[in-house]
Order: sequence, then structure tokens, then C-alpha cells
Amino acid sequence: MLRLWVWVVVDAGLDEYEDYTKRLIKLGISDLFRFRCTRCGRCCSGGPNVSLTVFDVVRMARFLLISWKGFLRGYVKVIIADIVPHMLLRGDERGRCLFLAEKASGEKLCVIYPARPMRCRLYPVLVEDLSGKRVYLDPRSPGVGRGVLRPLPRRLIEHYIWERREHYRRLYRVIVEEGARPIEGLYRVLEEAWREAEEGAEWADLDYLASLGSV
Ligand code: SF4
Repeated sequence: MLRLWVWVVVDAGLDEYEDYTKRLIKLGISDLFRFRCTRCGRCCSGGPNVSLTVFDVVRMARFLLISWKGFLRGYVKVIIADIVPHMLLRGDERGRCLFLAEKASGEKLCVIYPARPMRCRLYPVLVEDLSGKRVYLDPRSPGVGRGVLRPLPRRLIEHYIWERREHYRRLYRVIVEEGARPIEGLYRVLEEAWREAEEGAEWADLDYLASLGSV
């Protein structure tokens, strides 16, 4: 039933989606790019489209001084496709991220900025190819093409690839190999990551993440 729902949603916007994927700018990992954030907030207003790993969830929950369960309840939409749970940041009724705030001047800001998800950290660079050889630039961002020509943040990209792989490796271990139900498996992996963070794992250190570079 859930699978059908996902299929219908994608099918309804297929033309628009195909047009978007055709316009993505493909870059080799050694290519240079131009981007300067215009603080328009558009990338944070397009619906619940930021996918999260367990590492993102643990970092954000710790930043907000709440438990990972509380963070899941308040800010995350969990979708189970077949047996794999996927986590997305929830948006408000207008599709804006719940962490997006606006100053009196109209300037937008992220209230969880130091602990923002890796996908937000990397945007408008999209890392879908986990070989690490190429990335895409989202042409819908008004900041693409602005600023000085510079290299991609390779260390940040490599770290994100590690987190994505590790996230799914852990989920497969508990769900496929150990037979946990999807939600139970997700909870176990989150609990494991939470303990690692408490014990001082490098990935949980926000200064370490900031040292990996930025877009
Ligand atoms: S977490 Fe921050 S950067 Fe990411 S979508 Fe929300 S407001 Fe934007």
C-alpha cells in the first residue's frame, strides 16, 4: 500500500521531475564550481525533501538537547519502502523546514545551522553517486554560478559518502541479517549511534564536521 502511494506521488509530477534531472549540472570531483548563498531560503522551503541518516538525527537531537526519540517525534517523517525505513525532515503546512526562521530584515536563517543535516551542508551539491567520482549541482539554486571559481569540498563529500554507506550498512545488518522489523531496526541503529556519540565519536563533533570544508 505504501509502495503504491510513493509510486503515485512520483508519477503525478514525472514531467517536472524529468525536466529537473535533465538540467542538473554534472561535475567531476576535481572540477571547479561557482556558488554563493543568497540567503533566499528557497532550498529550505520546498517540502520535506531532506533525507536524513542516523548520524544527522543524533547530531541534531544533541544540539537541541533532546533525545533522538523526541527529535523523531517532532521533526522527522519516516517512510518505509519495502523493508527499508527512510527518514525525511518534516516541513510545515507550506512545505517550509521547521528550522527555517526569518529575521525582521527578511533574511532567512537556519536555527540549527551548526548541526544541520549533511544534505543541507552540501546543497546545492548533490552527492548521489557514492563512488565519489562525480556530483551534481542543482540549477534551481539562485546562488549557482555566482562567486569565485573554487574546488568542491572533497573531504566533506567523502565524509557524507561514508555516513550514507554506514547508515544503510547498519540498517541492513539489523533488519536483513538479524531479522528486526523496520522501525525496530531503525530504533536500534539510532540507539547505537547515540551511544557512539556519547562516547565521543568523531562524526558527532560539530567542530570536526566544520573542519571538513563547506559549500
Ligand atoms: S535544516 Fe536548516 S539548512 Fe536544512 S532545510 Fe532546514 S532550515 Fe534549511
